[in-house]
Amino acid sequence: MGTSTLHIDLGALARNWRALDAKSAKTVETAAVVKADGYGIGAGKAARALAKAGVKTFFVAATEEGVILREALGPTPRICVFGGHMSGDTDMILDMQLTPMLNSLDQITRHFEALPDHAFGVQLDTGMNRLGMEANEWDAVRDLVMAAGPMLIMSHLACADAPDHPMNAQQLAEFHKMTDGLNAPRALSATGGILLGPEYHFDLTRPGIGLYGGLPFEDAEPVVRVECPIIQIRDVAAGETVGYSNAWTAEVPSRVATVSAGYADGITRHISGKSVLFDGDTPCPLLGRVSMDLITVDVTHLDHTPRSLDILCAHQTVDDLAQIGGTIGYEVLTSLGRRYNRRYRG
Ligand SMILES: *Cc1c(COP(=O)(O)O)cnc(C)c1O
Repeated sequence: MGTSTLHIDLGALARNWRALDAKSAKTVETAAVVKADGYGIGAGKAARALAKAGVKTFFVAATEEGVILREALGPTPRICVFGGHMSGDTDMILDMQLTPMLNSLDQITRHFEALPDHAFGVQLDTGMNRLGMEANEWDAVRDLVMAAGPMLIMSHLACADAPDHPMNAQQLAEFHKMTDGLNAPRALSATGGILLGPEYHFDLTRPGIGLYGGLPFEDAEPVVRVECPIIQIRDVAAGETVGYSNAWTAEVPSRVATVSAGYADGITRHISGKSVLFDGDTPCPLLGRVSMDLITVDVTHLDHTPRSLDILCAHQTVDDLAQIGGTIGYEVLTSLGRRYNRRYRG
C-alpha cells in the first residue's frame, strides 16, 4: 500500500452523537452538521451512520453539498443548508427537497417568489456579523415570514468554545429578544453551545466538531486514525543531514524511517521538527521538514522494524496536532485530502 490509510470509526461517530444528544433534554432534537464532506471523513458514510443512530436533521454549508447528501440518505431525513437560497439553487432545492436557511431579505424574496410552498428556515444575526438577518431587517419581514411557517429559526454563537466569554450571554439575550413568543422551533447552539448548558439548547442543537472527535467536546472519542506506511528505513551516520534544506542533522548514528504522507495529505508543514509519530504507544520524533509526499521519522530507539507509523491516533488527536501546527482541529480534519486509502468500520 503506497498511500497512508485514513481509518474512520463510524461507531465512535455515533457514540459521540449519542453523548452530545444526552446532554440536552429529551424534548430537544440533536441534529448533525456534515458540511465540508463531513468534516473531511466522508459526508455520505458519516450521515448514513448518524441516521442509523437516530439523527433526523442534517446541516450542510451549501446546496451542492445537500444534493450529494440527499443521494446518500434517500428521501426521509431533513437536509438544511446554512448558506440559504442562492441564485441558481432553486431547481436543486426543489428536486432534492432541501431546506434553505434564509439569511437576508434578498434570499427571502428569492425563495418566496420561486418556491412559495417549499420548506425553509431563517437565520438571524445575534452579533457574529457573518450570516443572518439583523434585528431591523427581521422586524421588517418577521410577520410575513412567520405567516409562511418557517421550520426553524436559528442563530450561531461566535465564542461558544470559551464558556466564560460575555459574548455568549449577550447573543443569548439577543436571540431571546428577536424570537421570544414566535411560533417556530429555535436553534442557537453548535458543539460549544451544547456544553454551555440547557438555556442554550432551545428546540434543536447542531453539533459538528464534537461528533468527529474534536474540541471543545473533551469527552469525544477519536474518530480518525492516520496510519502512514514506512517506505524505507536507512542508517544515518553522525553528522549526516536529512531532508530539504538539510533541516535535521544526526548527532549520533540514527535509524531514519521515511513514511508515505505529506502536506499534500493535509499534514501541515508547520509541524516540521516539532511533532512525533507513534509506533503503537511509542512516540517517534518527526525529523526535519514535512515534504509534499514524505515524512522522515527517528526510529533509532525501536527494537523492531514497524511497517507503519500513526500520525493521528488516540495518543495524538486532531487537536494535539492542531496545537503543534498552530491551527484548530477543524482545519486538521477538513484538510486531510483525497489521497488516503479510506477504511471505515463500526
Ligand atoms: C459549522 C457550524 C455548526 C457546527 O459547529 P461545530 O463547532 O463544528 O459544532 C453549527 N452551526 C453553524 C451555523 C455552523 O456554521
